[in-house]
Amino acid sequence: MSEIAVLFNGYSTMSANDEMTANCTCTLIKGAHNIIVDTMTAWDSDKIISALKSHGVIPEDINYVVSTHGHSDHIGNNNLFLKAKHIVGFSISYKDKYYIFPFDKGQEYVINESVKVVPTPGHTLSDVTVLVKSNQGEQVAITGDLFEKHEDIEDPNIWLEAGSEDKVQQARNRSKIADIADWIMPGHGAQFQVTKELRQTLRKQIV
Ligand SMILES: [Zn+2]
Repeated sequence: MSEIAVLFNGYSTMSANDEMTANCTCTLIKGAHNIIVDTMTAWDSDKIISALKSHGVIPEDINYVVSTHGHSDHIGNNNLFLKAKHIVGFSISYKDKYYIFPFDKGQEYVINESVKVVPTPGHTLSDVTVLVKSNQGEQVAITGDLFEKHEDIEDPNIWLEAGSEDKVQQARNRSKIADIADWIMPGHGAQFQVTKELRQTLRKQIV
């Protein structure tokens, strides 16, 4: 099992004149491996280093970086973690070595017995979700922008307007992940518990 620490809760707000203010949820997983999920914007390195420090971790201790997809607010500080294997969407690499892995065929990448990375395309065509079994025995899904925030369950326009390269697949994967998760950590909001009603709502949104 693994300990999960949210280093920063993501946010996103639309303003007038086609601007959006946003940063992603950044999460540390401690267990058989140290893993950081989504590394915010390039301007956040000092914040990340000091947040890690408060959990007794330095960047060299990180074994895996997972960016749920390749957008700039989810990859900004990957280069702090030079001892880690990097998983960015469907791409797995270490230095100049790339590991071919069939995420595109639906295969799950197992990091250890409590953490795996599963393909959940939709927001981009190569989005992944990190599934973690917590120390409390609960299944936690760190989803990136598959879910923008809790409010996007009731108002799907929120995730659609945040950008969806394949909304049919995204709706399907949202429901699939909710069916297996106890908690969801969305890309741009605080974590929320998955209820039976929430699962039903998401099932109805599949077209
Ligand atoms: Zn995002």
